[in-house]
Amino acid sequence: MNAVKFEQGPIRPPSEAGSLLLRMTRNCPWNRCLFCPVYKNEKFSRRSIEEIKNDIFAIVEAAEEVKAVSEANGLNGDINRQVVAKIQSERPELLQVAFWLYQGGENVFLQDGDSLLLPVDQLTEILELLIEKFPTIKRITSYARSKTLLKRNVEELQRLRKAGLNRIHVGLESGNDQVLEFMKKGVTGADHIEAGQRVKEAGLSLSEYVILGLGGEQWWREHALDTAEVINQINPDFIRVRTLAVPKISPLYEKVVQGEFKLLSDDDVIREEKLFIESLQGINSEFYSDHILNLLEDVSGKLMEDKNKMLSIINEYQSLPVDKREKFRLGRRTGYYRTMSDMQNSNLGDPVERTYRQLQHKGISVDDYIEQLMLRFI
Ligand code: SF4
Repeated sequence: MNAVKFEQGPIRPPSEAGSLLLRMTRNCPWNRCLFCPVYKNEKFSRRSIEEIKNDIFAIVEAAEEVKAVSEANGLNGDINRQVVAKIQSERPELLQVAFWLYQGGENVFLQDGDSLLLPVDQLTEILELLIEKFPTIKRITSYARSKTLLKRNVEELQRLRKAGLNRIHVGLESGNDQVLEFMKKGVTGADHIEAGQRVKEAGLSLSEYVILGLGGEQWWREHALDTAEVINQINPDFIRVRTLAVPKISPLYEKVVQGEFKLLSDDDVIREEKLFIESLQGINSEFYSDHILNLLEDVSGKLMEDKNKMLSIINEYQSLPVDKREKFRLGRRTGYYRTMSDMQNSNLGDPVERTYRQLQHKGISVDDYIEQLMLRFI
């Protein structure tokens, strides 16, 4: 029995939770964004095509071993829960591949922060090999920086699409140039627009990530308005928001401590999100709040038809009395509540009420308590 080994990076988008992770590069070639805690103190490197191909062969080998476990248990190579459970207890190193096959072996995410830096010929070869070895694959996606996308013309992006790449995830973060510059994102709003439009023109699916609260107190309005304007010009397939949280390892932490950047409160983030959504016009993107850091995860839907529904959820939150808003935030951040309707459920509400009273008793503000909780989710 061989030890099957292939390399994996630290992160993936939330929507790629069930995807096979295949590492193209290590870490981030830019690595300067102030808000970003990932890859700090890690050097960027490209993996050679041989290394990546060897990983694909290792995954093929792992898949064969998973099937052998199934056959040994009289299941004819089918990968069901029983096989996954057996592998979890007996061959944990095969678990990711087993789980991926159990889910149909359909989705792959190329790691780490900017795979499109690899030469188009190399990427094409890797994509073709992946699909040859796993014909079940339906979707292959990758992160890419807008700056890197600008180095690829539409024809090159089309080549990658034809080779099997389906979707690009871009960390847009903000469309406002002051915010982008302050945060050292290394791109402008115009770069984001050009890169996003190019991806769309090549026929690739595009997911743009926006950080709520990234303008802080100083630029919250400009951040909301300009980000909406940039998104309106791109019309991505997906808009995904996540709320800013600042762990000690991110360079922004020091700026917060020094008072050079003032974080928004939850309520101010919601005010900003409302302005952002109100300003989205003439696009048909799907909007998701699929990150645990977001307060109102049910603010999601298809633009423009669900826009009013999304805004009405925000209005409902804003119209709650102060103590109810605090309790909802507490319940959400402690994992009892997902949506405001959960507050009607006393099984969920009672522990939240107890924590709320304990905090009051100890003189701890809900804001301070939540600030600490938020860092757990990064
Ligand atoms: S946000 Fe993206 S581009 Fe910026 S440092 Fe982090 S991984 Fe790199």
